[in-house]
Amino acid sequence: MLELEGAYKRYESPGEVIRAVEDVTLKVLASEFVAIFGPSGSGKTTLLLLAGGLLRADAGTVRFDGADLGALSRREMLEHRRNKVGLVFQDFRLSEGLSAEENVVVPLLMRGMDRREAARLAVGALDEVGVGNRSRHSPDRLSGGERQRVAIARALVGGPKLLLADEPTGNLDTETGESVLSLMRELPRKRGAAAILVTHDAQLTRYADRVLMMRDGRLTETGTPETTSAAR
Ligand code: ADP
Ligand code: MG
Repeated sequence: MLELEGAYKRYESPGEVIRAVEDVTLKVLASEFVAIFGPSGSGKTTLLLLAGGLLRADAGTVRFDGADLGALSRREMLEHRRNKVGLVFQDFRLSEGLSAEENVVVPLLMRGMDRREAARLAVGALDEVGVGNRSRHSPDRLSGGERQRVAIARALVGGPKLLLADEPTGNLDTETGESVLSLMRELPRKRGAAAILVTHDAQLTRYADRVLMMRDGRLTETGTPETTSAAR
């Protein structure tokens, strides 16, 4: 479903070239939950942005359902992100001026859905992640765990084929983080979507079907949570 082949991404600033992603080849199947584990600065976020079509690779290819993302126009890339990809971040990135429900409605309205249908789906998605009773609240009145649940509802409500999560539990306590991760593991799969979690926390990789280790922009090791050194 998602396929990176020999993908590179470098950031150039005056006098410096940072090799953030170097020759990464990776396949993720529908319904698979993959964790990418590596230290800070190893290129995890950059890899996630390439996978979601938020950044273009400098070299190599990124394919999604057979389409070469590098060949898409800016507009097509935007459509791709809106329709196929859900994103979850460490800092939630909810709109504070909107209620939880409105946050979840927004991506549906951007896709042209009518307001009533969008509201119906948003309420269903909030129920599904266990915060249906918080739908009228503004994010600043929610706990961190509730905020991340709203963010997951927002990421999944449009039925993306790929959920990308960048250190999604980084601002949560252990127990809350675990409940958020079990949602991330169950919900995409139920919908036939793949999920990629990137984290610098080895403990979190045990939720994944497959663990990839990243170092200095390269994938260095792959296995199950039991066999990779992340787990030890
Ligand atoms: P990670 O998520 O594993 O911490 P990143 O993908 O954020 O790694 O970063 C990989 C490398 O690229 C780091 O050295 C980082 O400083 C650098 N980097 C990330 N984003 C940018 C950017 N927009 N401009 C310049 N350098 C960047
Ligand atoms: Mg990062």
